[in-house]
Amino acid sequence: MQLLPAQPCLLCGGASHAGLCCAACDAELPRLPREHCPICALPTLAGSVCGECLKQHPPFDHTVAAFSYSFPIDKLIQSLKFHERLVLVNHLADSLAKRVNTKPDCLLAMPLHPARLRERGFNQSLLLARRISRQLGISLLEDACVRVRNTAPQSSLPWKERDKNMRQAFTCQLDDRFRGKHVAIVDDVMTTGASMGELAQALKHAGAGEISAWVVARTLPHDH
Ligand SMILES: [Zn+2]
Ligand SMILES: [Zn+2]
Repeated sequence: MQLLPAQPCLLCGGASHAGLCCAACDAELPRLPREHCPICALPTLAGSVCGECLKQHPPFDHTVAAFSYSFPIDKLIQSLKFHERLVLVNHLADSLAKRVNTKPDCLLAMPLHPARLRERGFNQSLLLARRISRQLGISLLEDACVRVRNTAPQSSLPWKERDKNMRQAFTCQLDDRFRGKHVAIVDDVMTTGASMGELAQALKHAGAGEISAWVVARTLPHDH
């Protein structure tokens, strides 16, 4: 690896030649277990499809997650979202891009409702998707889907109610750019997969053939 000029490591403050985090801190970041369900990314024995996905195949077909949503990744993502630490975008996006080993036809960012966007000023998923689109040379469809219901933030609800909360939250234009195509949806965090599932379903209704979920971090059940 090429050494970059030293900068203070975001996590330990030591000199980093590897970008935002030094190599030692980067190696300590919480990863998903090697063996996980190829559809939803939850840990399984020998990487088989998990019981939930066997019972009911979610509307998306694969999940790639760079990290598990635990310390310090949770803090980094929260500071990106709520304190506009935009410097984190490239680092998190590149960590995700490195885990990907398929080349979908196009990318989409998880949309934010216009009211939420006005409040926050940016959509972190779109920033991540733009970087990944440039790094991997996959076109990004910025306007294909919109969030039409300003749902309660998923994090404010018990898990059981998150599916209901997300129902019909998105509309997607019928669009030749993704008809029959493999589309990857980029998001910062996947918890229950309810919003990912809802968007994937809307995209499939609009003609998409295959959906991959690309998330920076996946919440594992034991994190709760
Ligand atoms: Zn460090
Ligand atoms: Zn699964």
